[in-house]
Amino acid sequence: MPRFFNTLTRRKDEFTSREPGVVRMYTCGPTVYRYAHIGNMRTYLMADAVRRLLETQGYRVEHAKNITDVGHMRQDMVERGEDKMIAAALKEGKTLEEIAGFYTEAFRSDEAKLNILPAMVFPKATEHVPQMIDVAQRLLDRGYAYVVDGNVYFDVSRYERYGQLSGNQLGNLLQGVRVEVDPLKRNQTDFALWKAAEPGRMVKWQSPWGEGFPGWHIECSAMSTAYLGQQLDIHTGGVDNIFPHHEDELAQSEGAFGGQFVRYWMHGQHLLADGLKMAKSTGNSYTLSELEAQGFEPLAFRYLCLTAHYRSRLNFTFQGLRAALRALARLRTYIRSWTLDERQLTSGELEVVSAPWRHRFWGHVEDDLRLPDAIGELWKLADSDVPGPAKLDLVRDFDRVLGLDLARLTEPLPPLPVYVRGLLEQRREPRDRGRYPEADALRESVRNSGYEVRDTAGATVALPRDPAFTPDKLVGTVSASNEVPSFIGEPDTCEFSLNILAHNYQDDVRRCVESALAWSGNRDVEVVVVDNFSGDGLGGWVDEFARSDSRVRVIHTDHRVGEGAGRNMGLKQSRGRYVMLLDTSVEFVGDAFAPLVALLADQRIGAAGAWGVHSHDLRHFDEGPHGREVDAVEAYCLCFRRSLLHATGLMDEKYRFYRNLDLDFSIGLRSLGLTNVALEHLPLLKHEHRGWNSVDPDERDKLSRKNFNRFLEKWGNRIDLLAHTRHPGDPDDTGNHHDDHEHDHHDGGHP
Ligand code: AMP
Ligand code: ZN
Repeated sequence: MPRFFNTLTRRKDEFTSREPGVVRMYTCGPTVYRYAHIGNMRTYLMADAVRRLLETQGYRVEHAKNITDVGHMRQDMVERGEDKMIAAALKEGKTLEEIAGFYTEAFRSDEAKLNILPAMVFPKATEHVPQMIDVAQRLLDRGYAYVVDGNVYFDVSRYERYGQLSGNQLGNLLQGVRVEVDPLKRNQTDFALWKAAEPGRMVKWQSPWGEGFPGWHIECSAMSTAYLGQQLDIHTGGVDNIFPHHEDELAQSEGAFGGQFVRYWMHGQHLLADGLKMAKSTGNSYTLSELEAQGFEPLAFRYLCLTAHYRSRLNFTFQGLRAALRALARLRTYIRSWTLDERQLTSGELEVVSAPWRHRFWGHVEDDLRLPDAIGELWKLADSDVPGPAKLDLVRDFDRVLGLDLARLTEPLPPLPVYVRGLLEQRREPRDRGRYPEADALRESVRNSGYEVRDTAGATVALPRDPAFTPDKLVGTVSASNEVPSFIGEPDTCEFSLNILAHNYQDDVRRCVESALAWSGNRDVEVVVVDNFSGDGLGGWVDEFARSDSRVRVIHTDHRVGEGAGRNMGLKQSRGRYVMLLDTSVEFVGDAFAPLVALLADQRIGAAGAWGVHSHDLRHFDEGPHGREVDAVEAYCLCFRRSLLHATGLMDEKYRFYRNLDLDFSIGLRSLGLTNVALEHLPLLKHEHRGWNSVDPDERDKLSRKNFNRFLEKWGNRIDLLAHTRHPGDPDDTGNHHDDHEHDHHDGGHP
């Protein structure tokens, strides 16, 4: 039995419908004198998830979604010129009906693109004025309303349960109400059910109280009753609807009809942009068409919304949307590849394998729509060794609530054309023997035939190519380093792998990468950029860059991963004889490669770089002196033979922050008996370390301390590994130590 958080009771309530098997659900719909923005769409997606869940439980959901069309209370806004678009349309001679019709169509089309199931009815406000008049009349008859000069007001003081939904008590009501004082009201907290038409008003209706137009909230009371009856099971909207709109609707409906109007009130939190509620008037809104114009498919937005619980705010960013698109693309590719799994399962076996997954997935969904956890379960399934046919079965089941159009991908693929199979066959040998250029050329031929080659654990498969599914050249969006394919055991394909781990600051990344490439001369280098969930457009820029320069590859993370994990993603993707970790604050001003190559030819050397530190107790570190052995090479520029990764292993991912990670790696090399060297006069510049400077000093301290403690725990009693123990009398023992318990560099940090 699902449980929903009920705004009315302020807790999660088990859901039961009034009438067995049928749910009556009302969703406050769009205002159609402008395009709906994606914030509005988030709220409709929430309603859609409720509806889909209930349908999977066997309910028939009678769903009504009103259309607030131009013509009544909005007329005054038009006249005041508040909406330029509608004013312009009127000027062009369009009627209000035409304008409303246009935006209604646009809305319906947006809903369809997002796979939002269409409501049973989309009643228009302008077509239900008699029903609204009827509700107002009932309220008058029952003593909940009063008439003043052709206006009808709801008398809030007469309805003792007013405030039950929003918790707004009469005393503090005024702060929520618009502040224009209406001298006709008995109390300023009263609200209009009907308003008299002012002279010159075009859009107006006859009523028992003279010509006029309905108030703001009455349409929903009238239309919900007209289509669903006087008692609804579920009413949805955004949190901004709670007060006054839904509070007033509730008072009107219960006042007019008695009984309980709505059993479960559900409200979705806002979509934000730049930290503020998305709203046209704030100037931070986007429409679905705008996203499409930027190359995003609508379902990427649906996926994005699934990644946040509906009662949490979600800050919209293009980076987030891009990550959602990639995740969706990856999911689709996975599903396609499962269709190639030829294992056969009996229905009994299928059930045994699937049951626990179903149980967990629907457990999340039924618990107040914990869709982010449900999606997480789907990803776990993707990574599991559950047989393909069972995975497909589960995907079909899960997609009933996810609505991502995944089911169609579970259909068996048509057999590969013979020549594509031939190409795959031809590619096997060069691939198995590590002749990558040859294998890659064949992969390219397969691609050109419209198929994407995927080397999976067991076999090589070719899937039909679909640009939306496999954004070019992207490794994809990853959540953890274990999702990144590793080339560590594979032969070198170039001389240098430059590893960049970037979070924001595209100018810095550009300076670093471009200068490195410019000074790499004729060397065979590749650049692996890990875009660590940048929010500032860096991700889009590196994608562009990678498209224009085949040496550059990009991995995007779908959240901010720790330093160790991010570094490992780059390391796993590196295929150069040498790996060079670079910090984005570094700029090449000459050929730094040659001296490093010369140095690393010496097999006794572990790490080489431009900046190093030394220590005599593993607690305090001082920079330099360069031009000789150091205890650790700083990750501004840290270079080593890739083959060493076999011995050192990957970096320790418990280091969430960069400090000490390079020391850990360097000391690890020393523990293998290797020497670390920092070269003097390497043609590299260190610019401002903006990553460091942008972190709040307290936060920085905390993060540094954690890493420092981790480091000490591991190496604290290995003073024997330090260079000074082998070179007594080094000039590092100045006694001039800082008395904080952390190591300290004069520059305040190192990457
Ligand atoms: P409106 O067209 O302004 O009446 O809004 C239509 C629906 O979208 C209502 O349910 C609002 O609560 C909801 N809504 C408005 N802005 C946002 C937002 N930024 N995020 C989520 N829902 C919103
Ligand atoms: Zn409403």
